[in-house]
Amino acid sequence: MTTIVLGAGVVGTASAWYLNAIGEDVTVIERRDAAGMETSWGNGGVIHASEVEPWSQPGMPRNILRWLGREDAPLLLRYGAIPRVWRWGLRFARNSTPARFRRNCEANLALALLSLQSLQEIRAEAGIAYDAASSGVLKIYRSNEALERATASLGHLAPLGLQFSPLDGRGCARVEPALAPIGDTLAGGLHFPRDEVGDCNAFTQGLAAAAADRGVRFRFATTLEAIETAQGRVTAVHTSAGRLPADRVVAALGSYTGRALRALGLDVPIQPVKGVSITFPRGDWARAPAMPVIDDSYLFGLVPIGKRIRISGSAEITGFDVTPADSRCQAILANATRTFQDLGQVFDRSKAIFWAGLRPVTPTGTPLIGETRIKGLWINAGHGHLGWTLACGSGRVLARLVSARPPGVALVPFSC
Ligand SMILES: Cc1cc2nc3c(=O)[nH]c(=O)nc-3n(C[C@H](O)[C@H](O)[C@H](O)COP(=O)(O)OP(=O)(O)OC[C@H]3O[C@@H](n4cnc5c(N)ncnc54)[C@H](O)[C@@H]3O)c2cc1C
Repeated sequence: MTTIVLGAGVVGTASAWYLNAIGEDVTVIERRDAAGMETSWGNGGVIHASEVEPWSQPGMPRNILRWLGREDAPLLLRYGAIPRVWRWGLRFARNSTPARFRRNCEANLALALLSLQSLQEIRAEAGIAYDAASSGVLKIYRSNEALERATASLGHLAPLGLQFSPLDGRGCARVEPALAPIGDTLAGGLHFPRDEVGDCNAFTQGLAAAAADRGVRFRFATTLEAIETAQGRVTAVHTSAGRLPADRVVAALGSYTGRALRALGLDVPIQPVKGVSITFPRGDWARAPAMPVIDDSYLFGLVPIGKRIRISGSAEITGFDVTPADSRCQAILANATRTFQDLGQVFDRSKAIFWAGLRPVTPTGTPLIGETRIKGLWINAGHGHLGWTLACGSGRVLARLVSARPPGVALVPFSC
């Protein structure tokens, strides 16, 4: 079968890898000059089963309304975006009940564990260098209430395979000595030993090269213009480089998936949610953390990636704009400096890369993997804040479904 994968982000590239493995003839269409250049470029870098909780969770819809228009909001909905997002917002609210939240968490966890295993297998098989590190991730909490809430909420995932150990403030400082100056002010932390980190862009490019060696064709600098159908089935894609016939098309366009499929009458509920990251050389930061740290109170992640440090965070619903807002970058830097006080002395703005990307967020907080009502038109998109974590597993599940095998994990159903 001739399969065209649309989009060479980490999800599209992993899809191409696994479709090739089941014998499909695969071509990937990507508008950029290389793989992994959009949201898969500068994300937080964490493979985190520890973050499988969707943003659609009890209390969140009310919080978003309370935070409306507030520049320092953890999840900022800009007034101008409301007319475009209200329908998606209602679906988000409907998925924020305790029962839905729990189901969606469990689905994400199962996929995250399969994905971690798949990533480790690919790493061993293809030998991709992407600054991978497997020392786990430490989440820190400043209030007992927040720590207890997190422990209880994640506790129900422990029997399903989520491993973590609780630490007091001093224990956090033992695991990551850079936290020693604030160790006594912390309520405690949770260490997730199986979480990993790595450069998603480097992995995606390495995987694309390995897939190309196995016969996958990548057509870079080629933009999708339309998907052609006849009698309810996909027949071809039209691109800036001409018409390409296809028996099957997989839309893995991240936040742009909905736009691409709208012309076919499909309503794909994916909302772009902008986040920012700041990447700089470890350089002279003698006491830089060696352990990735997620700060639950100040809402940022600080992650060593090889010889660099990346700080990421922020969530802003503001359409498809990918300018890193200075206010949001400064807020993240200020928060990180409250936790790691010597960061202020070593941070050199002229050496830092300020970046923004669009998380493709669904109302359920779970990805859409499966066939649409147009025969032969598949989706693998909507991975929200978990695309790096879930990509390899999602590619694998997609290939299983394409070859009419059970997915191996319980997927949250969708229809479009
Ligand atoms: C600040 C931030 C931090 C994050 N941190 C983490 C993290 O620590 N861990 C984690 O698991 N996830 C994280 N994420 C989420 C993760 O980065 C995304 O979920 C993931 O990158 C999505 O991958 P994708 O392949 O679906 O989309 P993308 O990487 O956006 O790929 C889509 C591709 O489609 C291409 N495309 C779009 N339209 C067209 C067209 N018309 N024609 C041709 N090509 C087209 C684009 O060029 C792009 O390459 C973070 C995201 C952000 C913004």
